[in-house]
Amino acid sequence: MKIEIIKCLQDNYSYLIIDNKNKYACVVDPGESYPIINFIENKGIKLRYILNTHHHYDHIGGNLELKNKYGSKIVAFEDDKDRIPGVDILVKDNQVWKVDDFEAKIYHTPGHTSGHIAFHFFNEKKIFTGDTLFSLGCGRIFEGTFEQMFNSLNKIKKLPKETEIYCGHEYTLQNSNFCIQNDPKNIKLKDKITKIKKKLDNGLPTIPTILNEEIECNIFLKAKNIETFTKLRNLKDNS
Ligand code: ZN
Ligand code: FE
Repeated sequence: MKIEIIKCLQDNYSYLIIDNKNKYACVVDPGESYPIINFIENKGIKLRYILNTHHHYDHIGGNLELKNKYGSKIVAFEDDKDRIPGVDILVKDNQVWKVDDFEAKIYHTPGHTSGHIAFHFFNEKKIFTGDTLFSLGCGRIFEGTFEQMFNSLNKIKKLPKETEIYCGHEYTLQNSNFCIQNDPKNIKLKDKITKIKKKLDNGLPTIPTILNEEIECNIFLKAKNIETFTKLRNLKDNS
């Protein structure tokens, strides 16, 4: 299983999950279609599934064009069936979605939106977190409560430490500024920031990040209780 990172729109990431055996692929959150089409054309890749973490347009904008062109099936959370046009397969919290050689556990992670989910490819130790968990940050709370977001992040935090995190946006550098302001003595964070800057200077994504590093460096994952988490989230929203 190979992951290709595809830049979409301003700062979105979409991901292709390719099974090298049969060239079947899933795409996660195609914010637009043409970067995906450009990547897969002439490579014999068969785009079987479109996986959506949530209904925001920057994550589903390419859905229908891809579905029409390749006959792909759209997979999304059951509660979002009326706001993700063309959805084919509805999944539930804690369900294992298994088809072809793809196998992922679904985690309902409300907070950013009420129907947000993460796709955990547990065999490969990779999770697609959309706008719930970013590298060194977390999503804004639009539809949920602070408590829901805190609990959603805690679900992800419990996964194996070596899990690779693939999130919805390249926000890592901006996020790192907020983390270091509030956690100025964190040596591991300083090391991570050096690595991040090097990657960006070379035109590379800072994604994937590793859960272990996020637990040590991401101020939102370091928050021990809802009060601290709420304070930090408010502070960041107003910064
Ligand atoms: Zn969003
Ligand atoms: Fe987004």
